[in-house]
Amino acid sequence: MLAMFRTVLAPVVLALGIGGVLAPAQAPSPKKAEPPKAMRLYVFDCGLLNIAPAGVARYHVTPAETGETRMPVPCFLVAHPKGTLMWDVGVIPDETVEAMASKGGAHFDVNPVSAAVVTRTLKSQLAAIGYSPSDITYVAISHAHKDHSANLNEFASSTWLARPVEREFMWQKGNERVEPSFYTKLEHSKSLDISKNESKDGEYDVFGDGKAIIKAAPGHTPGHQVLILQLASLGRVMIAGDLYHYLPERTFHRAPPDNEFSVQQSADSRAKIEEYVKKTNTTLWIEHEWAANAKLKKSPAYYE
Ligand SMILES: [Zn+2]
Repeated sequence: MLAMFRTVLAPVVLALGIGGVLAPAQAPSPKKAEPPKAMRLYVFDCGLLNIAPAGVARYHVTPAETGETRMPVPCFLVAHPKGTLMWDVGVIPDETVEAMASKGGAHFDVNPVSAAVVTRTLKSQLAAIGYSPSDITYVAISHAHKDHSANLNEFASSTWLARPVEREFMWQKGNERVEPSFYTKLEHSKSLDISKNESKDGEYDVFGDGKAIIKAAPGHTPGHQVLILQLASLGRVMIAGDLYHYLPERTFHRAPPDNEFSVQQSADSRAKIEEYVKKTNTTLWIEHEWAANAKLKKSPAYYE
């Protein structure tokens, strides 16, 4: 907002030859982003998770099979000509990351077997490409676990694309898999009930042109979902949330973790999604897969 205000005002002030009071010099901020002509996908670094051996075993794989046991925590921005969608918002809130910046990053034990480290804020990465959280049209998360929801409060002015079953899970008393302080401001923010607006296959078309589809894939949590994008350069890509965590789970058809909200639903969702990606020639991205994430272009670069 500020950047636009200054760009508009400065020539007027100069043209009128008004002397004297001008805003004090500020650090140059990048130009506010314009809607792109074609849909873009930006990938942000929202930290990593160090996983203890018991945390690997939970996924019915071994460190020998996975190689790298750490998990990246990515966040994603879809910039479409008709608006923007933020997908998954990190594991430690930006304000904590800022407070810990001088100590080499923020640390947070997500659970007894997984410890997060975050060195960069999401909002600084958004700012670098001309966005502020308040500019974002829609926010959605694959699911509400702590490592996907940390910065939701920053997106309280976006329209939250939500499923009632996940909302219920998010504010369920005594639910240790979530951190309600991450999304206090969303309890009464503007939201849209996807389940009332989706196709019979559980698909919700975010921008109305089939290029960004949110699809139900329950089990990991009651309202777990995936995002399918149709990108000019990559073709169809599915950002698959936590349908899987490590690649060998998928390659070797391992059973879902025992601590899923519903193991049976997860197994069914995996089967349905595998059929879907095959039929629609879609590449599946496992969000927490280290080697795959390492190869992704990171913002400010983007996929178109
Ligand atoms: Zn996760």
